[in-house]
Amino acid sequence: MSEDTRCPICKRQEEEQEKAVILSTDAFVVRHSSETNILGYLVIEARRHILDLTEGTDDEALGYGALLKQVMSLIRKLTGAERIYTFSLGEAVPHFHVHVIPRTDSLPRYYRGRGIMSYPLEPALKEEQMEEVCKSLRYLLKTSPPASTQIKP
Ligand SMILES: [Zn+2]
Repeated sequence: MSEDTRCPICKRQEEEQEKAVILSTDAFVVRHSSETNILGYLVIEARRHILDLTEGTDDEALGYGALLKQVMSLIRKLTGAERIYTFSLGEAVPHFHVHVIPRTDSLPRYYRGRGIMSYPLEPALKEEQMEEVCKSLRYLLKTSPPASTQIKP
């Protein structure tokens, strides 16, 4: 078994298209996070097992920029977030993925900014909530197509 097949992100991408996938491109998959109960918390994952964009091609880097813009726009439309946090750490899973998290007016001050790192993982979103929010995101995507032709839902 190669290292790639043991990586949880690679493994998930090899499996059937999961329900939480919102959109995908040649280089990236965007799915809703199941780590917390934050609605609209999306994760952009590289299809290839690369640590970060320094290992990406120029096309992947350019595609990432356009995709991030689209994903942030989607999140803002869905949640009306005042801020949208983005970060990539690569510590727990060294496969390039970026957390894109809406910070809405209702998020307690304690969790704002760097405080988001201590946001509780439990309770996670219920499956029905997840299905509902994914449905809304796909609808928003369909009704507001991206300017870039490289991105396909
Ligand atoms: Zn991987």
